[in-house]
Amino acid sequence: MTYRVTLIPGDGIGPEVTEAMRRVVEATGVEIEWDIQEAGAAVMEKYGTPLPEQVLESLRRNKVGIKGPITTPVGTGFRSVNVAIRQALDLYANLRPAKTIPGVASRYEDVDLVIVRENTEGLYAGIEHEVIPDEAAEAIRIITRKKSERIVRFAFEYARANGRKLVTAVHKANIMKLTDGLFLRVAQEVATEYPEIAFNDRIIDNLAMQLVQRPHEYDVLVLPNLFGDIISDLCSGLVGGLGVTPGANIGDEIAVFEPVHGSAPKYTGQNKVNPTATIRSGAMMLRHLGEIEAAERIERAVARVIAEGKYVTYDLKPTRDDPTAVGTREMAEAIIRAL
Ligand code: NAD
Repeated sequence: MTYRVTLIPGDGIGPEVTEAMRRVVEATGVEIEWDIQEAGAAVMEKYGTPLPEQVLESLRRNKVGIKGPITTPVGTGFRSVNVAIRQALDLYANLRPAKTIPGVASRYEDVDLVIVRENTEGLYAGIEHEVIPDEAAEAIRIITRKKSERIVRFAFEYARANGRKLVTAVHKANIMKLTDGLFLRVAQEVATEYPEIAFNDRIIDNLAMQLVQRPHEYDVLVLPNLFGDIISDLCSGLVGGLGVTPGANIGDEIAVFEPVHGSAPKYTGQNKVNPTATIRSGAMMLRHLGEIEAAERIERAVARVIAEGKYVTYDLKPTRDDPTAVGTREMAEAIIRAL
Protein backbone atom coordinates (compact mmCIF):
# COMPACT_ATOMS: atom_id res chain seq x y z
CA MET A 1 0.00 0.00 0.00
CA THR A 2 1.23 3.48 -0.88
CA TYR A 3 0.09 6.42 1.22
CA ARG A 4 -0.21 9.87 -0.30
CA VAL A 5 0.93 12.54 2.15
CA THR A 6 1.12 16.31 1.70
CA LEU A 7 4.60 17.55 2.56
CA ILE A 8 5.03 21.27 3.25
CA PRO A 9 8.77 21.90 3.70
CA GLY A 10 8.16 25.42 5.11
CA ASP A 11 10.95 27.96 5.36
CA GLY A 12 13.91 28.83 7.60
CA ILE A 13 15.15 25.47 8.93
CA GLY A 14 11.96 23.78 7.67
CA PRO A 15 13.37 22.32 4.43
CA GLU A 16 16.35 20.78 6.27
CA VAL A 17 14.35 19.14 9.07
CA THR A 18 11.59 17.89 6.77
CA GLU A 19 14.19 16.40 4.40
CA ALA A 20 15.73 14.56 7.38
CA MET A 21 12.27 13.32 8.39
CA ARG A 22 11.44 12.20 4.83
CA ARG A 23 14.62 10.14 4.60
CA VAL A 24 14.03 8.46 7.97
CA VAL A 25 10.37 7.69 7.22
CA GLU A 26 11.30 6.25 3.81
CA ALA A 27 14.01 4.10 5.41
CA THR A 28 11.31 2.23 7.40
CA GLY A 29 10.07 0.78 4.11
CA VAL A 30 6.60 2.31 4.40
CA GLU A 31 5.68 3.49 0.89
CA ILE A 32 4.75 7.14 0.76
CA GLU A 33 4.11 9.31 -2.24
CA TRP A 34 4.89 12.86 -1.11
CA ASP A 35 2.71 15.62 -2.51
CA ILE A 36 5.08 18.57 -2.02
CA GLN A 37 3.43 21.95 -1.46
CA GLU A 38 5.07 25.31 -0.92
CA ALA A 39 3.69 27.92 1.48
CA GLY A 40 5.04 31.01 3.25
CA ALA A 41 6.77 34.26 2.29
CA ALA A 42 8.62 32.67 -0.65
CA VAL A 43 5.41 32.01 -2.61
CA MET A 44 3.82 35.41 -1.89
CA GLU A 45 5.09 36.95 -5.09
CA LYS A 46 4.02 34.08 -7.31
CA TYR A 47 0.54 33.50 -5.86
CA GLY A 48 -0.25 36.78 -4.05
CA THR A 49 -0.82 34.83 -0.82
CA PRO A 50 1.46 32.89 1.55
CA LEU A 51 -1.11 30.08 1.63
CA PRO A 52 -2.14 29.22 -1.95
CA GLU A 53 -5.44 27.36 -2.29
CA GLN A 54 -3.69 24.29 -3.77
CA VAL A 55 -1.96 23.66 -0.42
CA LEU A 56 -5.31 23.36 1.33
CA GLU A 57 -6.73 21.33 -1.57
CA SER A 58 -3.82 18.91 -1.30
CA LEU A 59 -4.45 18.45 2.45
CA ARG A 60 -8.18 18.00 1.87
CA ARG A 61 -7.44 15.38 -0.77
CA ASN A 62 -4.74 13.43 1.07
CA LYS A 63 -6.17 13.85 4.61
CA VAL A 64 -2.67 13.57 6.06
CA GLY A 65 0.13 16.11 5.93
CA ILE A 66 3.42 16.91 7.56
CA LYS A 67 5.00 20.31 7.60
CA GLY A 68 8.10 22.21 8.53
CA PRO A 69 7.76 25.53 10.35
CA ILE A 70 6.80 28.68 8.46
CA THR A 71 8.01 32.15 9.47
CA THR A 72 5.39 34.71 10.50
CA PRO A 73 6.40 38.37 10.37
CA VAL A 74 6.31 39.90 13.88
CA GLY A 75 4.06 42.90 14.46
CA THR A 76 3.23 43.53 10.80
CA GLY A 77 2.77 41.63 7.53
CA PHE A 78 0.63 38.59 6.70
CA ARG A 79 -1.16 36.50 9.29
CA SER A 80 0.37 33.19 10.37
CA VAL A 81 0.17 30.51 7.67
CA ASN A 82 0.34 27.89 10.41
CA VAL A 83 -2.71 29.31 12.18
CA ALA A 84 -4.51 29.76 8.83
CA ILE A 85 -4.04 26.07 7.93
CA ARG A 86 -5.39 24.96 11.32
CA GLN A 87 -8.41 27.26 11.04
CA ALA A 88 -9.18 26.58 7.36
CA LEU A 89 -9.18 22.80 7.85
CA ASP A 90 -10.64 22.91 11.38
CA LEU A 91 -7.67 21.04 12.85
CA TYR A 92 -8.96 21.77 16.30
CA ALA A 93 -6.69 19.67 18.49
CA ASN A 94 -3.02 20.51 18.79
CA LEU A 95 -1.46 17.46 20.41
CA ARG A 96 2.01 17.94 21.83
CA PRO A 97 3.50 15.10 23.89
CA ALA A 98 6.47 16.07 26.10
CA LYS A 99 8.18 12.91 27.27
CA THR A 100 11.68 12.45 28.62
CA ILE A 101 14.06 10.77 26.18
CA PRO A 102 16.88 8.97 28.02
CA GLY A 103 20.16 10.69 27.23
CA VAL A 104 18.71 14.14 26.74
CA ALA A 105 19.99 16.43 29.48
CA SER A 106 17.09 17.97 31.36
CA ARG A 107 16.14 18.94 34.90
CA TYR A 108 13.93 15.93 35.55
CA GLU A 109 13.73 12.25 34.72
CA ASP A 110 10.54 10.54 33.61
CA VAL A 111 8.50 13.55 32.61
CA ASP A 112 5.54 12.34 30.58
CA LEU A 113 3.07 15.08 29.76
CA VAL A 114 0.59 15.49 26.93
CA ILE A 115 -0.54 18.96 25.99
CA VAL A 116 -3.90 19.24 24.22
CA ARG A 117 -4.24 22.79 22.97
CA GLU A 118 -7.41 24.22 21.43
CA ASN A 119 -6.23 25.22 17.98
CA THR A 120 -8.90 27.30 16.30
CA GLU A 121 -10.31 30.03 18.58
CA GLY A 122 -9.26 31.95 21.70
CA LEU A 123 -6.96 34.88 21.03
CA TYR A 124 -5.85 33.22 17.78
CA ALA A 125 -9.21 34.09 16.23
CA GLY A 126 -7.12 37.04 14.98
CA ILE A 127 -9.79 39.65 15.58
CA GLU A 128 -7.79 42.75 16.41
CA HIS A 129 -8.24 46.40 15.67
CA GLU A 130 -6.74 49.73 16.49
CA VAL A 131 -9.00 51.80 18.71
CA ILE A 132 -6.82 54.90 18.39
CA PRO A 133 -3.93 54.45 15.91
CA ASP A 134 -0.62 54.03 17.72
CA GLU A 135 -2.32 54.66 21.09
CA ALA A 136 -4.68 51.77 21.80
CA ALA A 137 -5.46 48.41 20.22
CA GLU A 138 -7.91 45.68 21.07
CA ALA A 139 -8.07 41.91 20.51
CA ILE A 140 -11.13 39.74 20.94
CA ARG A 141 -10.81 36.38 22.69
CA ILE A 142 -13.46 33.94 21.55
CA ILE A 143 -14.41 30.90 23.62
CA THR A 144 -17.41 28.84 22.57
CA ARG A 145 -19.19 25.92 24.22
CA LYS A 146 -18.93 23.86 21.03
CA LYS A 147 -15.17 24.22 20.62
CA SER A 148 -14.46 23.89 24.34
CA GLU A 149 -16.52 20.74 24.49
CA ARG A 150 -14.82 19.07 21.54
CA ILE A 151 -11.29 19.87 22.74
CA VAL A 152 -11.98 18.63 26.27
CA ARG A 153 -13.62 15.51 24.84
CA PHE A 154 -10.56 15.00 22.62
CA ALA A 155 -8.35 15.17 25.73
CA PHE A 156 -10.46 12.59 27.58
CA GLU A 157 -10.70 10.30 24.54
CA TYR A 158 -6.92 10.54 24.16
CA ALA A 159 -6.53 9.73 27.86
CA ARG A 160 -8.86 6.75 27.57
CA ALA A 161 -7.19 5.36 24.43
CA ASN A 162 -3.69 5.78 25.86
CA GLY A 163 -4.21 4.59 29.44
CA ARG A 164 -3.79 8.04 30.95
CA LYS A 165 -5.08 8.65 34.48
CA LEU A 166 -5.62 12.41 34.86
CA VAL A 167 -6.87 15.31 32.76
CA THR A 168 -6.22 18.86 34.01
CA ALA A 169 -8.14 21.80 32.54
CA VAL A 170 -6.04 24.97 32.58
CA HIS A 171 -7.63 28.42 32.61
CA LYS A 172 -7.72 31.92 34.05
CA ALA A 173 -11.37 31.84 35.04
CA ASN A 174 -10.76 33.97 38.12
CA ILE A 175 -10.02 36.96 35.86
CA MET A 176 -11.63 36.06 32.52
CA LYS A 177 -14.85 34.99 34.19
CA LEU A 178 -16.99 34.73 31.09
CA THR A 179 -14.61 33.21 28.54
CA ASP A 180 -12.53 30.91 30.72
CA GLY A 181 -15.49 30.50 33.06
CA LEU A 182 -17.31 28.87 30.15
CA PHE A 183 -14.27 26.76 29.22
CA LEU A 184 -13.95 25.48 32.80
CA ARG A 185 -17.66 24.79 33.22
CA VAL A 186 -17.75 22.80 30.00
CA ALA A 187 -14.62 20.86 31.06
CA GLN A 188 -16.27 19.97 34.38
CA GLU A 189 -19.38 18.76 32.56
CA VAL A 190 -17.48 16.64 30.03
CA ALA A 191 -15.36 15.15 32.84
CA THR A 192 -18.47 13.51 34.35
CA GLU A 193 -18.74 11.34 31.21
CA TYR A 194 -15.32 9.79 31.98
CA PRO A 195 -15.59 8.56 35.57
CA GLU A 196 -12.55 6.28 35.22
CA ILE A 197 -10.25 9.26 34.49
CA ALA A 198 -9.42 11.73 37.27
CA PHE A 199 -10.04 15.40 36.56
CA ASN A 200 -8.85 18.62 38.15
CA ASP A 201 -8.26 22.20 37.07
CA ARG A 202 -5.53 24.76 37.59
CA ILE A 203 -5.18 28.50 37.09
CA ILE A 204 -2.59 29.03 34.35
CA ASP A 205 0.01 31.01 36.32
CA ASN A 206 -0.02 28.54 39.21
CA LEU A 207 0.21 25.66 36.72
CA ALA A 208 3.29 27.22 35.08
CA MET A 209 5.04 27.34 38.44
CA GLN A 210 3.96 23.82 39.41
CA LEU A 211 5.10 22.34 36.09
CA VAL A 212 8.56 23.76 36.67
CA GLN A 213 8.69 22.43 40.24
CA ARG A 214 6.66 19.21 40.10
CA PRO A 215 5.97 18.10 36.53
CA HIS A 216 5.29 14.52 37.66
CA GLU A 217 1.99 15.56 39.22
CA TYR A 218 0.48 16.15 35.78
CA ASP A 219 -0.55 13.90 32.93
CA VAL A 220 -2.84 15.27 30.17
CA LEU A 221 -3.34 19.06 30.10
CA VAL A 222 -6.14 20.67 28.11
CA LEU A 223 -5.91 24.39 27.46
CA PRO A 224 -7.35 27.25 25.41
CA ASN A 225 -5.24 28.28 22.44
CA LEU A 226 -2.69 30.84 23.69
CA PHE A 227 -2.15 29.12 27.05
CA GLY A 228 -1.58 25.85 25.19
CA ASP A 229 0.98 27.47 22.93
CA ILE A 230 2.99 28.87 25.84
CA ILE A 231 2.73 25.83 28.11
CA SER A 232 3.76 23.44 25.34
CA ASP A 233 7.04 25.35 24.88
CA LEU A 234 7.52 25.26 28.66
CA CYS A 235 6.97 21.49 28.63
CA SER A 236 9.41 21.17 25.70
CA GLY A 237 11.95 22.85 27.96
CA LEU A 238 11.31 20.21 30.63
CA VAL A 239 12.29 17.36 28.32
CA GLY A 240 15.28 18.80 26.47
CA GLY A 241 14.03 21.68 24.39
CA LEU A 242 12.37 22.50 21.11
CA GLY A 243 14.78 20.34 19.16
CA VAL A 244 13.07 17.14 20.33
CA THR A 245 9.34 17.78 20.79
CA PRO A 246 6.90 16.69 18.09
CA GLY A 247 3.33 17.75 17.48
CA ALA A 248 0.16 17.18 15.52
CA ASN A 249 -2.83 19.25 14.45
CA ILE A 250 -5.83 16.95 14.35
CA GLY A 251 -9.34 17.46 13.01
CA ASP A 252 -12.19 15.03 12.44
CA GLU A 253 -10.91 14.08 8.98
CA ILE A 254 -7.51 15.66 8.41
CA ALA A 255 -4.30 15.60 10.45
CA VAL A 256 -1.18 17.70 9.89
CA PHE A 257 1.97 16.83 11.82
CA GLU A 258 4.67 19.36 12.67
CA PRO A 259 7.34 20.00 15.30
CA VAL A 260 6.52 22.38 18.14
CA HIS A 261 9.44 24.63 17.18
CA GLY A 262 9.48 27.49 14.69
CA SER A 263 11.63 28.30 11.68
CA ALA A 264 14.71 29.47 13.68
CA PRO A 265 15.69 31.80 10.78
CA LYS A 266 19.19 32.44 12.11
CA TYR A 267 20.13 28.79 11.46
CA THR A 268 18.70 28.58 7.92
CA GLY A 269 20.77 26.47 5.54
CA GLN A 270 23.49 25.74 8.09
CA ASN A 271 22.84 21.99 8.49
CA LYS A 272 22.93 22.67 12.23
CA VAL A 273 19.59 22.20 13.97
CA ASN A 274 18.15 19.09 15.51
CA PRO A 275 15.87 17.10 13.18
CA THR A 276 14.46 14.97 16.06
CA ALA A 277 11.27 16.98 16.63
CA THR A 278 10.29 16.64 12.97
CA ILE A 279 11.38 13.00 12.76
CA ARG A 280 9.28 12.21 15.83
CA SER A 281 6.40 14.12 14.22
CA GLY A 282 6.91 11.71 11.30
CA ALA A 283 6.62 8.80 13.72
CA MET A 284 3.36 10.28 15.07
CA MET A 285 2.15 10.47 11.48
CA LEU A 286 3.00 6.81 10.84
CA ARG A 287 1.10 5.86 14.01
CA HIS A 288 -1.88 7.86 12.71
CA LEU A 289 -1.65 5.93 9.41
CA GLY A 290 -1.71 2.67 11.37
CA GLU A 291 1.96 1.91 10.71
CA ILE A 292 2.64 1.27 14.39
CA GLU A 293 5.68 -0.94 13.92
CA ALA A 294 7.45 1.59 11.67
CA ALA A 295 6.62 4.37 14.16
CA GLU A 296 8.04 2.35 17.04
CA ARG A 297 11.19 1.55 15.06
CA ILE A 298 11.78 5.27 14.48
CA GLU A 299 11.16 6.10 18.14
CA ARG A 300 13.60 3.40 19.26
CA ALA A 301 16.23 4.47 16.71
CA VAL A 302 15.96 8.11 17.79
CA ALA A 303 16.25 7.10 21.46
CA ARG A 304 19.29 4.96 20.71
CA VAL A 305 21.16 7.66 18.79
CA ILE A 306 20.41 10.19 21.52
CA ALA A 307 21.36 7.83 24.35
CA GLU A 308 24.63 7.07 22.57
CA GLY A 309 25.23 10.83 22.36
CA LYS A 310 27.75 10.69 19.53
CA TYR A 311 25.88 11.63 16.38
CA VAL A 312 23.74 14.39 17.86
CA THR A 313 23.33 18.07 17.09
CA TYR A 314 24.74 20.91 19.22
CA ASP A 315 21.64 21.27 21.41
CA LEU A 316 22.02 17.71 22.72
CA LYS A 317 25.70 18.02 23.58
CA PRO A 318 26.85 18.94 27.11
CA THR A 319 27.80 22.43 25.91
CA ARG A 320 26.41 24.37 22.94
CA ASP A 321 29.86 24.90 21.39
CA ASP A 322 30.89 21.23 21.61
CA PRO A 323 33.07 20.62 18.52
CA THR A 324 31.88 16.98 18.25
CA ALA A 325 28.29 18.03 17.45
CA VAL A 326 27.10 16.77 14.06
CA GLY A 327 24.74 18.42 11.58
CA THR A 328 21.07 17.83 10.80
CA ARG A 329 21.88 15.46 7.94
CA GLU A 330 24.44 13.44 9.88
CA MET A 331 22.08 12.95 12.81
CA ALA A 332 19.36 11.75 10.43
CA GLU A 333 21.83 9.32 8.85
CA ALA A 334 22.73 7.93 12.29
CA ILE A 335 19.01 7.42 13.00
CA ILE A 336 18.62 5.60 9.69
CA ARG A 337 21.57 3.33 10.56
CA ALA A 338 19.97 2.64 13.97
CA LEU A 339 16.67 1.60 12.35
P1 NAD B 1 11.87 29.02 17.09
O1 NAD B 1 11.24 27.79 17.63
O2 NAD B 1 12.02 29.13 15.64
O3 NAD B 1 13.30 29.21 17.74
C1 NAD B 1 13.55 29.46 19.11
C2 NAD B 1 14.93 28.90 19.47
O4 NAD B 1 14.75 27.49 19.68
C3 NAD B 1 15.98 29.01 18.35
O5 NAD B 1 16.76 30.13 18.49
C4 NAD B 1 16.80 27.77 18.55
O6 NAD B 1 17.82 28.03 19.48
C5 NAD B 1 15.85 26.78 19.17
N1 NAD B 1 15.41 25.78 18.21
C6 NAD B 1 14.25 25.78 17.48
N2 NAD B 1 14.19 24.69 16.73
C7 NAD B 1 15.32 23.99 16.96
C8 NAD B 1 15.84 22.75 16.47
N3 NAD B 1 15.17 22.01 15.58
N4 NAD B 1 17.05 22.35 16.91
C9 NAD B 1 17.73 23.06 17.81
N5 NAD B 1 17.29 24.22 18.32
C10 NAD B 1 16.10 24.69 17.90
O7 NAD B 1 10.98 30.25 17.67
P2 NAD B 1 11.02 31.81 17.33
O8 NAD B 1 12.42 32.26 17.17
O9 NAD B 1 10.16 32.40 18.37
O10 NAD B 1 10.24 31.93 15.95
C11 NAD B 1 10.88 31.99 14.68
C12 NAD B 1 9.80 32.00 13.61
O11 NAD B 1 9.10 30.76 13.60
C13 NAD B 1 8.72 33.08 13.80
O12 NAD B 1 8.46 33.64 12.54
C14 NAD B 1 7.52 32.32 14.30
O13 NAD B 1 6.32 32.92 13.94
C15 NAD B 1 7.71 30.99 13.59
N6 NAD B 1 7.03 29.86 14.25
C16 NAD B 1 6.43 28.96 13.42
C17 NAD B 1 5.85 27.85 13.97
C18 NAD B 1 5.20 26.86 13.04
O14 NAD B 1 5.50 26.86 11.87
N7 NAD B 1 4.32 26.02 13.51
C19 NAD B 1 5.88 27.62 15.35
C20 NAD B 1 6.53 28.55 16.16
C21 NAD B 1 7.12 29.67 15.60
